[in-house]
Amino acid sequence: MAATTHRAPSGTRDILPPESQRWTALLELFEREAVLAGYGLVLTPLFEDLSLFSRGVGESTDIVAKEMYEFEDKGGRALALRPEFTASVVRAFIQHRPATPWKVWYWGPNFRYERPQAGRYRQFFQLGAEALGTADPALDVEMVALAWRLIESLRLTRVTCLLNTLGDANCRPQYRAKLIAYVSEHEHELCPEHQARWRQNPLRVLDCKKEPCRRATQDAPLQLDHLCDECADHWKRVRDGLDTVGIPYQVEPRLVRGLDYYTRTTFELAAEALESAQNAVGGGGRYDGLVEELGGPATPAIGFSLGIDRLLLACDADGVFAACSSVLDAFVVDLVGGWQASAVTDELRRAGVRADRGFECEDGRPRSLKAQLRAADRSGAAVAVIVGADEVAGGTATLKPLRGGAEQVSVRREEMVGAVRALIGDSRL
Ligand code: AMP
Repeated sequence: MAATTHRAPSGTRDILPPESQRWTALLELFEREAVLAGYGLVLTPLFEDLSLFSRGVGESTDIVAKEMYEFEDKGGRALALRPEFTASVVRAFIQHRPATPWKVWYWGPNFRYERPQAGRYRQFFQLGAEALGTADPALDVEMVALAWRLIESLRLTRVTCLLNTLGDANCRPQYRAKLIAYVSEHEHELCPEHQARWRQNPLRVLDCKKEPCRRATQDAPLQLDHLCDECADHWKRVRDGLDTVGIPYQVEPRLVRGLDYYTRTTFELAAEALESAQNAVGGGGRYDGLVEELGGPATPAIGFSLGIDRLLLACDADGVFAACSSVLDAFVVDLVGGWQASAVTDELRRAGVRADRGFECEDGRPRSLKAQLRAADRSGAAVAVIVGADEVAGGTATLKPLRGGAEQVSVRREEMVGAVRALIGDSRL
């Protein structure tokens, strides 16, 4: 019987080099921004008690309704693969009670059982940040700025920051009642999905991209026009702050976002280059009630998550942040066998030069010079370091620049690292 050939499960994918280099480069950029703003890395489990997500996120959300990867472990515990970060971060906050404001950043995979398509996976990756412990609008501004600075460092230009406020426990219920009254009268004009489900989360109707919902809600009341004094003041201060710091945004009174624990400030980064149903590279907002809802002390908080897969799709569409083609600076060609080439390679690596070496044939003998130079060229290295019998005997190394056509040179072994560095410098200019 033929062996089964395995493939990555539907909705998941392998990220191989050199594409994976963009991922590390992206994470480095984000880590830099986060660390500059005083955020520390938090690592939480990939799975949690199912009840963390099904209770915390709210009964009406899509995730809880149909997208969760739930399972029972061998001990009979009901668990779920993490569908999002915020609930896990809040759980960790409640469990450990760190000093506030507690500012953390993260990245990693999340899991949702969705219909796979371009930009939508069952295992997808997010990066983001959460800050718990202050209701100061300065924190809202800092959070939007943190997300926006990453967009800027990626040189994405066709991204818009959409901004809205969802009110709070004081003014949202009254607004919600008004919206429900309005939608009840227009129920039959909604898209089929929302006709069936709008009562579960009436606010989502405003955010629906489908034409019937758009038309039906044209004159619907908006939260922005129904804020209590405190929320109106918060909203004004957030906008003032963003204007002062120089973060461009567009007020979008229909922005609701999928998870229904958001209060006050909510924002989304929309990429023009992506297809409209999937054009959000990420978003976030305040969730002042969530910590309490999950059993902790009343704690205001705000955060955001951006989808790494989609950020990179937006970069592709805009032709920015390309994969770096070369992963190597030097390739050591071994013509003698033994350990000389390994010693040279190690010396280069210790000096911070990215180096690899040729490996021997199956018969245990070194490959030909020609074959190894071909491998060196394919590796993208800027220089080949040739270790042959003459070099070993004479205590030298031969350096062959692989780009730009310069002549090869012979240098004393002690000068090799410096000479390689000089050549790399030349080729990188
Ligand atoms: P959400 O947690 O639903 O607000 O999603 C935040 C961001 O995560 C989205 O804007 C996407 O960039 C990304 N995202 C969410 N779900 C998926 C998915 N199934 N596949 C790829 N990216 C996703």
